[in-house]
Amino acid sequence: VFGGIEIAPPIEVFNLTAQYNEDNHPQKVNLGVGAYRTDEGKPWVLPVVRTVEAQMATDVTLNHEYLPVAGMPDFRLAALRLLLGEDSPAIVENRVEGVQAIGGTGAIRLCADFCKKMLGYDSMYTSSPTWGNHLGIFKSCGYSNVKQYRYWDAQNRTIDFNGMMEDLNAAPEKTVVILHGCCHNPTGVNPTEEQLKEIGDLVERKKFMLLVDEAYQGFASGNLEQDGNTVRYFVKRGFEFFVSQSFSKNFGLYNERTGNLAIICANKDAKLRVKSQMEMVVRTTWSNSPNHGARIVASVLNNPAYYAEWKEHVKTMSDRIKMMREMLFQKLKSLGTPGKWDHIIEQKGMFSFTGLNPAQVDILMKKYHIYLLKNGRINMCALTTSNMEYVANAIHAAVTE
Ligand code: PMP
Repeated sequence: VFGGIEIAPPIEVFNLTAQYNEDNHPQKVNLGVGAYRTDEGKPWVLPVVRTVEAQMATDVTLNHEYLPVAGMPDFRLAALRLLLGEDSPAIVENRVEGVQAIGGTGAIRLCADFCKKMLGYDSMYTSSPTWGNHLGIFKSCGYSNVKQYRYWDAQNRTIDFNGMMEDLNAAPEKTVVILHGCCHNPTGVNPTEEQLKEIGDLVERKKFMLLVDEAYQGFASGNLEQDGNTVRYFVKRGFEFFVSQSFSKNFGLYNERTGNLAIICANKDAKLRVKSQMEMVVRTTWSNSPNHGARIVASVLNNPAYYAEWKEHVKTMSDRIKMMREMLFQKLKSLGTPGKWDHIIEQKGMFSFTGLNPAQVDILMKKYHIYLLKNGRINMCALTTSNMEYVANAIHAAVTE
């Protein structure tokens, strides 16, 4: 029966890690996977997460019963407050709902599935380039028109705003448009305020459905409020839209699959209707969300002292990334590596879209055992004060070869 099944193509980022793990070179570096690393190159369990987990382990009042289908109420509300701000009109007017999801991925899936089944959407536009799973998720949900709008001007290393507007203008009615809330993956560049306004005007005129992907809140500026500004802008305009929130990065809860789909509605009645249908989507997809990650996030966000501690952790992560940007930039400058490298310090978030071409990436991988995505994206926090020299020299060699 299974003899005719073809082997699926490898998932690039996981394949890179597998190759890296098999490599015995003493100076190998994995700049592929998007996860935070300390300056020792180690994963970081946030201290406040450890504290809360230790308490949870001995709290005999906790159990492993099913959660409500929409997820843990304390977690969903805390996630919405973090995203929108405590005094957001959407929260005050009781017209926003949160539905817990299996990471940011699950939240995107819920949105895609709901828009297809309940609203009849069949078209999705996301940026070129983007986090590749946007395309996969919408295709899996049966969308027949899955496209990418122009976003990256490789020559000037900035947004191709005219191209973006042209492509979105040409998109059919009933299109779901994905924007990255902050820290665009992989380019690290987001629209300016003026550009956002123009995008908003277009979305309004064309009656698109917006899905803002908020996977890195806190990583752009170290300031959680500021990183919520894209979303808050659309709330201010009175849009009805979706936001997928991931706590994988800003809480370091990668494998706990902790996400939330924020649904901003025009009024409470619409909110109740959408929530009830969203519960049907959850029910038929994974039935019930896991509680461990959600309980950690809720415990931290709902406790002022823990919340303050967590904010410091987010700042620690974003500051370290900024420091690595600065060091790499200075190193390439001092080596006299041909090309302009300012984008390394200007881009925001976990990644740098280096501009290295596939041949140069190939040299880095084969000759220097440095693993990175084919499109030249590197995870800035996989750089450390110890491997910086090696990586910068290798980039210099790859560019000048
Ligand atoms: N969106 C973007 C832009 C991402 O980079 C990621 C994670 N790499 C996600 C969504 C999904 O996050 P999660 O691991 O929480 O599903």
